Amino acid sequence: MNDSTETHPFCSLDALANEWNLDLFSEEFSLELDKRNIWPSNRDKFHYPKLKDLSKVDLSLVEDPEAECIYMCGNSLGLQAKTAREYVNKEFDKWAKIGVYGHFEGELPWAECNEPLRPAMARLVGAKTEEVDLMNFLTVNLHLMMVSFYRPNEKRFKILLEEKAFPSDHYVVESQIKLNNLNPEECLLLLRPREGELTLRTEDILRVIEQEGDQIALVLLSGVHYFTGQLFKINEITQAAHSKGCYIGWDLAHAVGNVDLKLHDWNVDFAAWCTYKYLNSGAGSIGGVFLHEKHFEIANLKKLDGWWSHRFDTRFEMSNKIEYAIGASAYALSNPSILLCSCLKASLDIFDEIGIENLRKKSKILTAYMEALLNKTFDRNNNSETGIEYITPTDPEERGAQISIRFKNNVRLVHDELEKRGVVCDFREPDVLRFAPVPLYNTFSDIYKMVKTLENCFKIVFRK
Ligand SMILES: *Cc1c(COP(=O)(O)O)cnc(C)c1O
Repeated sequence: MNDSTETHPFCSLDALANEWNLDLFSEEFSLELDKRNIWPSNRDKFHYPKLKDLSKVDLSLVEDPEAECIYMCGNSLGLQAKTAREYVNKEFDKWAKIGVYGHFEGELPWAECNEPLRPAMARLVGAKTEEVDLMNFLTVNLHLMMVSFYRPNEKRFKILLEEKAFPSDHYVVESQIKLNNLNPEECLLLLRPREGELTLRTEDILRVIEQEGDQIALVLLSGVHYFTGQLFKINEITQAAHSKGCYIGWDLAHAVGNVDLKLHDWNVDFAAWCTYKYLNSGAGSIGGVFLHEKHFEIANLKKLDGWWSHRFDTRFEMSNKIEYAIGASAYALSNPSILLCSCLKASLDIFDEIGIENLRKKSKILTAYMEALLNKTFDRNNNSETGIEYITPTDPEERGAQISIRFKNNVRLVHDELEKRGVVCDFREPDVLRFAPVPLYNTFSDIYKMVKTLENCFKIVFRK
């Protein structure tokens, strides 16, 4: 652990259980934690799905169909903020009433509807407002940034990527290499865990950068890995890449809204993210981009332009002479969707009110609680038929709000049984279930019930 002054989140829970004279592993303790609300819950700000509405739930197996499900999938699709509908409806009304005038009139002129979101978005990723903007979608934004930051030459032509990067990121990288008339086999440098290990060690990443750095044009990594839930040492790795003269970009799909980030101070070159996972802005919502201010002289870079790359005040003169908007905004191509921005605003309002540092504190406690209950209930790393193993690191500084569990056997059957009982989590090929205890809306009793249900499902599946 690099922060020795902070107590391990498990110790905080253990101390509370002692103080309240309760068994840490009891349901009572989970209920007491929710009741005392030491780490405040914001569940009432979200629509939380009910059992009766989920097609996968077998209503004969649940006590009360009106009850809420156990939603552990906020890393895949965040829940809807209750204000989202109101914000979107406002824009529907405006469109119906004033049509095209909506672009420049009203509380939120559509032509600039991304603007009010930028300060809160920047706070969430630790950036200056001008370094951040909302535009396009994640994969599109990775391409746009790579056009600028992957500029291979004779000496430097490689891209360092994880072997098990998210498929879209892998395809982006391969296609960018091909666009430069180069061969992916020669240009792709893939990081893999050591034999018998599941996640990458920071020291190994640093060693590859040290050894191969002179040939690496770009390092592209995820802040939090979608599959393993590993939180990378963004600061350290960024410094190492720079010390060898490489650019470094981060895909923050699973990091944004999940962990605290300091992109400006960490000197990250660029980053991109989607907003529908921990940021709760709805499927396929608008993407985010970070460009460090040291790169604002984008005219010197190679990039793709559209009319929205042109600064706002002269954009509509339609001069066909590009004058770039300042900062990340120069990467915008098209006019942003007011409907997507409205959904994102609903969620960012909540993040901004609470503060990501506070959420992260609660997140560490919730995840440690889940881990403690799982440890108590299941055999880890054993070789028995019912063995499970965590893929996610156990150090709270190396993970966010996610625990991925690998099953030795019957993972699909266990997943089916969980779904029938209203535990919403996701299955990833070939043998992993991912559970995300989201500090905005998951409670301690959600976690208690989830682990109990998992235990129950194990009994059912392995008795067969
Ligand atoms: C979710 C996710 C994506 C999805 O990309 P879209 O362009 O939003 O469809 C890409 N990369 C990573 C690492 C992700 O986790």
